[in-house]
Amino acid sequence: MAGLVEQLLSLALAGTMMISTGLDTAAPHNDIEGVLFLQNRQWRAGSAYIPELRRANMTGKVREMRDDAATALEEMAADCKAETGEIIVSVSGYRSYQTQATIYQRKVQKVGSKARADKYVARPGASEHQLGLAMDLGWDDYQGCSDKFPRSKAGKWVTENCWRYGFILRYQAGWEDVTGYQKEEWHFRYVGKEHAKAIYENEMPLETYLILLRQEVLMDIVLGVIE
Ligand SMILES: [Zn+2]
Repeated sequence: MAGLVEQLLSLALAGTMMISTGLDTAAPHNDIEGVLFLQNRQWRAGSAYIPELRRANMTGKVREMRDDAATALEEMAADCKAETGEIIVSVSGYRSYQTQATIYQRKVQKVGSKARADKYVARPGASEHQLGLAMDLGWDDYQGCSDKFPRSKAGKWVTENCWRYGFILRYQAGWEDVTGYQKEEWHFRYVGKEHAKAIYENEMPLETYLILLRQEVLMDIVLGVIE
């Protein structure tokens, strides 16, 4: 029995390497209908995945998101306007596999190689915009993706308050090695209020949070085995 416990503990501590083992089929990051599904350069939903979507009721361009995320975004946009007098604008929500493939191909042509394109754009299937849980935001004066977002009145408010609505600022400076992406101060990911609060308070990337959650799941298994 001790051998099994040790084995499970070492699995738990092994980190991302083990994130998609058989033990994890029911884990939150593998639940594609859940709010914690992990989609990044390593873990992908696959080209066939299309979530159920609706158009968020707000100003902006690509407004399609999953219903729970769209509802939270509408609430956040309304409160932002009430508090700051400025509006946030949707720039890009749902992005299909096919659209990702087109964007990637364009970038490769522009910068000359896949290696260079990889620094800026996700390979097809690696963008979490495919989940319908991510939204790029602009504001009154700039309806595109900009580093200036957090310095606008609306952007500052959203950056500070998004967790209250279930969103996290997904790609931050210093996290590049974990997330695989440069900081994107306009990209918000919906994970639900409970997880967003925990992630915000602990100031950690989603990947790290999922490892911690997974360790909790494994510990429950270990404790169940001991009992
Ligand atoms: Zn984005």
